Amino acid sequence: MKILLVEDSAAVVMVMTRRLSSFGHEVLLAINGLEAVNMFRDCAPDLVLMDIEMPVMNGFEAASRIRAVEATQQWAWTPIIFLTASDTVENLITAIEAGGDDFMTKAVPEPVLQAKMKAMARIATLRQRLSAANHKLEAMASSDGLTGLCNRRSMDERVDLSFAQASTLGAPFGLVMLDIDNFKKYNDHYGHQQGDDCLRKVASAIGASVDDANASGLTTGAFAARYGGEEFAVVLPGVPDAALQQIANSIVQAVRQLGIPHKKNDSWQVVTISVGGACRASASGKVVDIFRAADAQLYRAKENGRNRVEISPEQ
Ligand code: GH3
Ligand code: MG
Ligand code: MG
Ligand code: MG
Repeated sequence: MKILLVEDSAAVVMVMTRRLSSFGHEVLLAINGLEAVNMFRDCAPDLVLMDIEMPVMNGFEAASRIRAVEATQQWAWTPIIFLTASDTVENLITAIEAGGDDFMTKAVPEPVLQAKMKAMARIATLRQRLSAANHKLEAMASSDGLTGLCNRRSMDERVDLSFAQASTLGAPFGLVMLDIDNFKKYNDHYGHQQGDDCLRKVASAIGASVDDANASGLTTGAFAARYGGEEFAVVLPGVPDAALQQIANSIVQAVRQLGIPHKKNDSWQVVTISVGGACRASASGKVVDIFRAADAQLYRAKENGRNRVEISPEQ
């Protein structure tokens, strides 16, 4: 375990550090409550052993600040054990009230300390498993099961954040909507299963084009999402209209070059997409209006013959 020992007495520090290290734990040291809160934030320990009487900030205050730090992090709960001078009922009650989980006298016998650390290590392992499972769940909840791109829900969240950032910076903001051409006929002809495969490949080509755009420096923080069905959206912060045209063209070309056979797709015989785009010279107004403008351009791209890009003039 990574243990944060908070203690101002050099003698106690020496004894505790030697004992804890001999049980195989890593010991980080803070010599007062304030230092403990800062180290807690930076080092994310598995356990805090907290003295009560210390200069600058006492242990009770430090524990309540640590709990406040944790309140900003979902699922976090790090055990805090207070180190007290004596083993009294009052000490136990005060320790729990102050946000601690247990208390121990500084003169704790070595086998008791070892046993308690064993129990704490078990909790730390469970917490790590829980945290890994939660990360996995979070990733699953924000990505589309079929294509692996952002799903609609996470796109809505990310786009608001990204638009707000661009607004603050007075930066341009671009958006494209993409739709597979004659996809109903694809499903009718090749079957739904192959339709799903096609969606995955198209999504992956879109994702790769977005990665290229991010790597080229034309945009930063661009991302692609499955908007719904066979429609996708690409959010392009920092992108003015000339670059938007360039990126949209490269996506249309990338999908066509996949060369996925589609006998019922007009004269091209391969899967193609149509793209509508809109951008703002400096992000202002509402993001929903940019979606609406891009959608109107997508409609134009379909009307004008598909397998093409239409971008509304920059506003
Ligand atoms: P257009 O070129 O005008 O876009 O024509 P379209 O046929 O692509 O448009 P339409 O909206 O008529 O049909 C979209 C089709 O996309 C219908 C639906 O069955 C298919 N689709 C939507 N989601 C999925 C999916 O998850 N898997 C598969 N295989 N097909 C899907
Ligand atoms: Mg002290
Ligand atoms: Mg559609
Ligand atoms: Mg379509």
